[in-house]
Amino acid sequence: MRWRKALEGMTPYTPGRSIEEVKELYGLVDVVKLASNENPYGVAPAVKEQLGTNQIDFEVYPDGYAGKLRGKMATKLGVSENNLLFGSGSDEIIVIIARALLGPGTNTIAATPTFPQYGHHAKIEGAEVKEIPLIDGAHDLDGFLEAVDEDTSVIWLCSPNNPTGNLIIHEDLIDFLNKVPENILVVIDEAYYEYITDENYVNTVSLIQQYANVLVLRTFSKAYGLAAFRVGYAIGQPTVIANLDTARSPFNVTSAGLVLAEKALEDDVFIDECKKVNREQMERFKAYGEAHNLHLFDSQANFVLMEVPVGAGEATEKLLEQGYIVRSGDALGAPGYIRVTVGTAAQNDGFFKAFDVLLEGAGQLK
Ligand SMILES: *Cc1c(COP(=O)(O)O)cnc(C)c1O
Repeated sequence: MRWRKALEGMTPYTPGRSIEEVKELYGLVDVVKLASNENPYGVAPAVKEQLGTNQIDFEVYPDGYAGKLRGKMATKLGVSENNLLFGSGSDEIIVIIARALLGPGTNTIAATPTFPQYGHHAKIEGAEVKEIPLIDGAHDLDGFLEAVDEDTSVIWLCSPNNPTGNLIIHEDLIDFLNKVPENILVVIDEAYYEYITDENYVNTVSLIQQYANVLVLRTFSKAYGLAAFRVGYAIGQPTVIANLDTARSPFNVTSAGLVLAEKALEDDVFIDECKKVNREQMERFKAYGEAHNLHLFDSQANFVLMEVPVGAGEATEKLLEQGYIVRSGDALGAPGYIRVTVGTAAQNDGFFKAFDVLLEGAGQLK
């Protein structure tokens, strides 16, 4: 068959091990997954109730315009309905962006390591991917600017960056946007927006008025706890949104996803509480790192990239044997580190105990 050349040498996304798999594989009863940055507190109570009441007509296609969710989201963000695009997770919006803007003869710029889907879909479309190494976990925006040329179509900024958790400093972002040519779409992926506690953070949604080439991505998968239902969204200027909308499939968000996201939006208390507890638990990770002389990146998200005393693969395996699923840095472009989702207090207690065993094995337990 006549596959696109770009697919040669590429591989599908390999998900981490599931809880069930690990239970079976290691004969464990309790397994904790701290690998995919899901919300350890689940969803807001009203969202679960909503699913129980089930007012969905199974045989009817979803509202392709996502009218109700769109209306509520517009009000919440203080934008117009035509500033919004909804996707089957922000993953799908990344695909739509690549499809609408990238192809042979174009290039795109992203950090490394960062969320791999940007480069993945750009490559499939036949675009060249320019990767700019992080500096101490943060985007090297000067490096990005140097990489810009007349064929650059999309720039991907991930803030907080997955896997380091570093936030792009607002002044640096503004300076960057002032220098980037207006015909390049600048995507700011804020999948972990709800967790940001940095006082210097300025809401990026306000930037779309001033910079017509900015598109902000957010999701219901992380803090809102709705990963299973696949709802993400983008905020940008109407012309940008309209072009992306043309490349979107008509019923891309399911009826269940729409209803539940709408409900989830109503509960700010749940999100605020998750944010607060996440920060408290993050401090415990920092303290643990300091106590054991392990480097941790400065995360504004609900995960942390932490140094391990042995190889990342070995560390991941040894934690797995003890029932803790984390992501090896080897798979993320961060050898010598693991990415751990910040869990509940009890989950983290267990994680630190399991990590103690690692340290002990390496003769580094203090
Ligand atoms: C999890 C994640 C996403 C994807 O989220 P979905 O909305 O579930 O597709 C996008 N970007 C980053 C940086 C993420 O970590």
